[in-house]
Amino acid sequence: MKVWKLLSPKIFAEEERPDAIASPTQAKVKITKVLLGYPEVRAYTGAAGVRYPLVPGMYAVGIVAETGSDCVKVEKNTRVFLNGISPCGECAECRRGNFTGCLFPKVAGMGRDGFLRDFVVAEEGSLTPLPPSVTDITALYAGILSHCDNIVNKLDVPKGTHVAVLGAGESGNILSQLLIYRQAVPILIDKDEERLAVAAKCGVYYTLKADDDLIGELNEITGGRMAEGCVYTSFNGISPELPFRITAARGKVVFAGMEFPELSVHLKAALDKRLTLTGVSNDSIQSAAAINLLVNKAVELSPLLAAEQPAEAIASLFAAKAEVLERDGRVSASVLDLM
Ligand SMILES: [Zn+2]
Repeated sequence: MKVWKLLSPKIFAEEERPDAIASPTQAKVKITKVLLGYPEVRAYTGAAGVRYPLVPGMYAVGIVAETGSDCVKVEKNTRVFLNGISPCGECAECRRGNFTGCLFPKVAGMGRDGFLRDFVVAEEGSLTPLPPSVTDITALYAGILSHCDNIVNKLDVPKGTHVAVLGAGESGNILSQLLIYRQAVPILIDKDEERLAVAAKCGVYYTLKADDDLIGELNEITGGRMAEGCVYTSFNGISPELPFRITAARGKVVFAGMEFPELSVHLKAALDKRLTLTGVSNDSIQSAAAINLLVNKAVELSPLLAAEQPAEAIASLFAAKAEVLERDGRVSASVLDLM
């Protein structure tokens, strides 16, 4: 197989590796598409503190090329989503058999080699078959959708609750849609009107610009109660102290992302209001449940889907995205087509 690995920050090299199936429960998968989001770009720039050499790529879809003799849920030509987050198998939760509660999951493209490669040999358990109604490019978002589902579960708010979502990137947009699906009332906030417009096209009805009028507008929508829950998504360019201003007393604030930037906040505002603060990061992914949400059209992704780029563009695409992330503190996702 061919892999694209980072030797050090911003230096890519192609490498040939052996790709034989090593156990009867493994399958060999031809990678067709890889999502390129901020974790990949941060691994590229060295900002993520990853160890090199490293093959980036957290989420991918592919087609099964070959199966081991004990594989039961996939066969040759099955389209699959590859789950990039696996339990460590060593922490206290894993030792108790609670793999979904793993404290230190291994993340493809961060703590272990990812999916930027033409083929991968993977345990069958990490593959989720895709039904015909879910396209490859839509399936790439199953990981983000599952991450958003984890956030909704952490919020655990009753129906009709106002939840402020800060950052209208992929996560904030999908999270807002999922909150609507779960009958909460998201209010999506961003500085960037274009991102808010995309979210509106996806069906998010309260979108607010993060400017001087924000508090007044939020007061109006919530009838003066402000948001009872608030989610701050990583790398959105908004002050991390804004959640403490817009969340109602005794409300919940969740900081969420596949990674967190360095964040400094004055905690007093949160303590005075008796807020509950927590984080949701690379927790376990329930891929099959996320694919089910896609089948049920719980979220509308078409206005959000990233542009596709060919494999030849890998080095230049990473370089261009790194520049955007360094300049703006945020970057939208792309899709690499490896067919
Ligand atoms: Zn573990």
